[in-house]
Amino acid sequence: MDLQFGQYLLKRAERQLLGPEGAVELSARSFDILALLLDRPEEVISKSELFDTVWPGLVVEENTLQVHISALRKALDTGMIMTVHGRGYKYAGPRPVAVPAGHGQGNPASLIASDEQHPMLDMTGGKKVPVTGGCLCGEIRYRVTGPVLDTNFCSCRMCQRWSGAPFTAGSTYPASAVQFTKGEPKYYKSSPFAERGFCANCGSSLTYRPLVPPVTPDWADWILIYTPSLDNPAPNAPTWHLGIESQLPWTEIRDAHKRVRCQDSPDLVEAWATFNLPVP
Ligand SMILES: [Zn+2]
Ligand SMILES: [Zn+2]
Repeated sequence: MDLQFGQYLLKRAERQLLGPEGAVELSARSFDILALLLDRPEEVISKSELFDTVWPGLVVEENTLQVHISALRKALDTGMIMTVHGRGYKYAGPRPVAVPAGHGQGNPASLIASDEQHPMLDMTGGKKVPVTGGCLCGEIRYRVTGPVLDTNFCSCRMCQRWSGAPFTAGSTYPASAVQFTKGEPKYYKSSPFAERGFCANCGSSLTYRPLVPPVTPDWADWILIYTPSLDNPAPNAPTWHLGIESQLPWTEIRDAHKRVRCQDSPDLVEAWATFNLPVP
């Protein structure tokens, strides 16, 4: 049975939350937390039960739960999720009503009418869920509707400076396969032919993409998503390592596959040569 609560509809089989404006983006684990709270609306659900149900067999930091609770609070009406200090969380909105699947006042039309491709799915917690991601603060969310083309590590100096990390991990998708469902990144033109997208509020590193028009045919119609911004980054293991000339001596990376210096990457050499510049 689906659950109607206030102006929302929780569709269990589809693992989807519909609100007054159509589908509401929720991570798989936020969805699981909401479903658990709605199933027992009279009760305070302890943090330990939430951890055991939503992350079975995993050790999870307290902060992770708080991140999901605050994502739910942003997605729902004010006051629907109550903190009971020292005990846990409680659903505190209008009483949930069970409705047969396929009914309810939620409006799935925006989904059905969409001419977008079908969402990609992966397995999380034994369930098929859409591939989604976003920034740390939640102001930017995206979903992925096409298969990943390439995955890599990059240890180049630009990636290091930009991310504040010793290396980045990226997943490249067809440009049309990534849709921003909430907010838009701010873009920084980091070279004459590419720009990097980030959250203007929290600074999360989100995307790397070629500028339009493309500098060469290789630099067109794709977007790299920084893999850790995916809600479930685990399946996208990097398959090669770029920028190894700048790899820091105190990092060890499982990159047994292919290691490439930026100055040996044909795509980069060709792009910089267009501007009469060597690869930096
Ligand atoms: Zn953010
Ligand atoms: Zn790089």
